[in-house]
Amino acid sequence: MPIYEYICKDCGARFESMRPMKEANQPIHCKSCLSPNTYRTVSVFFAASEGRSITSTAGCASCAGGSCTSCGHH
Ligand SMILES: [Zn+2]
Repeated sequence: MPIYEYICKDCGARFESMRPMKEANQPIHCKSCLSPNTYRTVSVFFAASEGRSITSTAGCASCAGGSCTSCGHH
């Protein structure tokens, strides 16, 4: 299930929610202030996981910005 990222218009909080693709554009309440005034933004994680491959340049999900032994990224 993809992770979507939302931003709250009221308090500015950024939060993520894992939900079915068909519910991606449905309203969601802010996790900080429970405001319904939120909008969906592009999740970096989702964009990367949906793309072809991130291993060649970015390494695996657990080693962004650094080296890691699990994927050989340096
Ligand atoms: Zn909020």
